Amino acid sequence: MENKIMKIHKINNFIYKIINKDLKNKKYKKIHTRFPPEPNGFLHIGHAKSIYLNFEISKIYNGKCNLRFDDTNPNTASKIYVKSIKKDIKWMGYIWNKKSFYVSQYFNKLYKYAQKLIKNNLAYVDKLSKKEIKEYRGTLKKKGQNSPYRNQTIEKNMKLFKDMKNGKFQDGDLCLRAKINMNSANIVMRDPVLYRIKKKLHYRTKNKWCIYPTYDFSHCISDSIEKITHSLCSLEFLDNNQLYQWILRNLNIKKHAKQYEFSRLNLEYTILSKRKLKVLIEKKIVSGWNDPRMPTISGLRIRGYTPKSIKNFCKKIGVSKKNHLIEFSLLEYCIRNHLNNIACRFMAIINPLKIVIINLPRKYKEKIIVNNHPLYPDMGTHKIYFNKIIYIDKNDFQEVANKKYRRLTINQEVRLRYSYVIKVKKIKKNSLGYIKKIYCTYDKNTLNKNPVDRKIKGVIHWISKKNSIPAKFRIFQHIFSIKNPDSVKNYLKYINHESIKIQNGFVEKSLIKNVKKKFFQFEREGYFIIDKKETIKNKKITFNKTISLKGKKY
Ligand code: ATP
Ligand code: MG
Repeated sequence: MENKIMKIHKINNFIYKIINKDLKNKKYKKIHTRFPPEPNGFLHIGHAKSIYLNFEISKIYNGKCNLRFDDTNPNTASKIYVKSIKKDIKWMGYIWNKKSFYVSQYFNKLYKYAQKLIKNNLAYVDKLSKKEIKEYRGTLKKKGQNSPYRNQTIEKNMKLFKDMKNGKFQDGDLCLRAKINMNSANIVMRDPVLYRIKKKLHYRTKNKWCIYPTYDFSHCISDSIEKITHSLCSLEFLDNNQLYQWILRNLNIKKHAKQYEFSRLNLEYTILSKRKLKVLIEKKIVSGWNDPRMPTISGLRIRGYTPKSIKNFCKKIGVSKKNHLIEFSLLEYCIRNHLNNIACRFMAIINPLKIVIINLPRKYKEKIIVNNHPLYPDMGTHKIYFNKIIYIDKNDFQEVANKKYRRLTINQEVRLRYSYVIKVKKIKKNSLGYIKKIYCTYDKNTLNKNPVDRKIKGVIHWISKKNSIPAKFRIFQHIFSIKNPDSVKNYLKYINHESIKIQNGFVEKSLIKNVKKKFFQFEREGYFIIDKKETIKNKKITFNKTISLKGKKY
């Protein structure tokens, strides 16, 4: 362990420092963390930060990390979300301790703890409405005001709480509040609500309960039941820390975790709130939680991100107590870096333009062997064919171009990647003046070597017609047009309505034999992944563009 502590010290992260100290002082023998998602939506990249932190700690210290579903709201908790959360965590490569845990499995215990507080005159049943509670609470500048029901007898509170549990009241009629201090400087401590009535079928406990504990009441107790040592949460719970300790102290729960807060991830051009992400789905701005434009883990997976790239991103952003907006290009850098090593190189034509090689016989077929990766021969090879009719990208031809243009234009030869040098002879246009095809000649002495008498400036990608299959390409942009959509009131005003573009083109036929390789670099275009669902739907192989080839370096 000593060695490990030394190693950890190198990670400049305040939470690791706290854990190191606790171990050194023999405060704990084993480190036990938890990740406590509310199953009311899919996980997003912000959650990935918390998953990475909690699970890596358990790995590094040889401890444990629980997965606990914070399912105290029957209105929003659902099995679908439980399933997706488990799938995403597994996909990230983490294994949680034992089976997963649910706050709903502690409802009996929590009820008893609430009764204990009432018996000790530390909680009361309040009849004020939600609105009145808010008014009575006061503000940072204004002291709170005691509820007229605050001094009810213990007996009355016990009876009302039982009646609440037995369904004698309706939602919002009553609630259980801790009796702390309505003048506390910390507003969270002004008699916080511990239980509320929600007459709704719960996805696990069905209609057994109609009262549900709040996050504040259930979280600290759940942590103690599960013997968590370090309860890590985001900074918005800073003020709740005092309440976390108050509840445990007043319930006489001696062995319990300590809560530490770290800053949430905020990412450029992105909103990281399940509630707001849900609105994008409801308004059909995106197709679902796993739309490849979404910052959800499942969206990123379908977009072509890898667990390794997401973990590397989490490592790079680190953990601190300062909130800041992380550049999106850092996430892009992480995936680009990983894909550069693992993606097979193929050619795809996204905007096809037909080229006829006039000095080739109609049936000419020349096989060229191409490496799947320029650096790693173990990744194998595949064949491409040079024929009379080929496709190049429309953007790689300009009828009139300036001197800086390094692609195909009249009077300027270009090399076809892995193949020959070609030269324009004639352009065929339709009646509207659009280019239909281009007739070229090829120089048969230029395979794998440059001509001695002239310089060839550019190399372009291509596919021969015979060696191609039609493909769809889905190319994405950010959902939002501003850098910090989370900071504005009306974020829906800043939707980028061109966040998806679909193009029909071609890919090499031999890619089909390599679909299992999953990640592809289409030369000069970027990194792509096959979208299985879209492929079936479109009856045509469909790719999602993960990321372009060039971007900011870090
Ligand atoms: P949302 O606002 O998206 O609903 P949440 O905090 O309500 O987020 P939970 O499911 O309650 O979502 O979160 C589970 C854990 O993930 C919590 O410990 C929370 O602090 C953490 N978490 C959520 N969002 C982020 C984020 N953007 N950065 C870091 N941690 C986060
Ligand atoms: Mg939440």
